[in-house]
Amino acid sequence: MDSVNGTSGTSGSSSAHDSQSASLGAQSAPTAADTREQELSDELENNPDAVAALGALTANPSYAQLSVEQQVAALDAFNAAPNLATATYLQGAAEQTLDPQATPSALTPDAGTLTLDGQTYSIRNGELIGADGQVAGSIRNDGQVQLNSDTAPRSVYDDINTRVQMRELGPDQQMHDLVNLHAADPNGRLDNPSINREMARLATETISRARREAMDMRVVSDFRSVEEQNALYAQGRTAPGRIVTNATGGSSWHNYGLAVDVAFNNANGQPSWPDNAHWDRYGELAVARSLEWGGNWRGITDRPHIEYHPGLGAGEARTMLPAYRQGGLPQVWNNLGLGGP
Ligand SMILES: [Zn+2]
Repeated sequence: MDSVNGTSGTSGSSSAHDSQSASLGAQSAPTAADTREQELSDELENNPDAVAALGALTANPSYAQLSVEQQVAALDAFNAAPNLATATYLQGAAEQTLDPQATPSALTPDAGTLTLDGQTYSIRNGELIGADGQVAGSIRNDGQVQLNSDTAPRSVYDDINTRVQMRELGPDQQMHDLVNLHAADPNGRLDNPSINREMARLATETISRARREAMDMRVVSDFRSVEEQNALYAQGRTAPGRIVTNATGGSSWHNYGLAVDVAFNNANGQPSWPDNAHWDRYGELAVARSLEWGGNWRGITDRPHIEYHPGLGAGEARTMLPAYRQGGLPQVWNNLGLGGP
């Protein structure tokens, strides 16, 4: 054992003892990087995948060799898109910092797919391969994409409708998803003119951040007319099916273009409603953007549902009905100070 340090006898064990003391000392006095890591861990508490990705980054031997300043910079970069792909990129970046000659494979996805501006590329060791089999650009695990035809790089997280799957070959020689995101609004529901623009903007921001955290969300419901709401209310009461709402026509914010429902995409890009902790994170992100989240309601909780009505409560939607009867959606939005469409 002593020969590891090139020493022997007493001086060897003394050296081992010293390094142990140093490491204990580091634990008792947290560095700026330790503090930042704890902040991120607290912030991401409701997204277990993001917390695990953070742990993968900080457990990386190359990351551990960075200076404290470099570690803080890596953690800040991680927080921009806290997911396993970003963590993998930053592990590669740490290796490169320690050895500038290295080109670690962790910097780029080994496989996957990207659909951008209607064009689909397959990913092969960081290269984007077009339908014609030619290299059309490059992609990194931090989500940066550079198409040959573009003058500047862009991020896969810029547009909530970007389809991206970044995959990496694991130690088990199997391909694993680092990130797998499908188009979040394939039916253009947030572009519906009956959805208030401010509502659409806040929903987009919520979903955009969720996607950066590798949560594959999708808009499944937007505006609903008073008549449609009455039909939905009848379900499970005077019509077949199970009860899905307590709101009669005019008492749901959906009726005024101020509510949206989301689901998660499953691995095949189909809407699903998994029973997992990510709903809480979604609700947390929505509330942080001044939206009301149905998951916080008593009685029938509605975790997919977010709504926006500054100054009014969730149960006060019906007070908007006279304005709606008189001047339609623009009058409702005007009364709430939300401007035009
Ligand atoms: Zn809803």
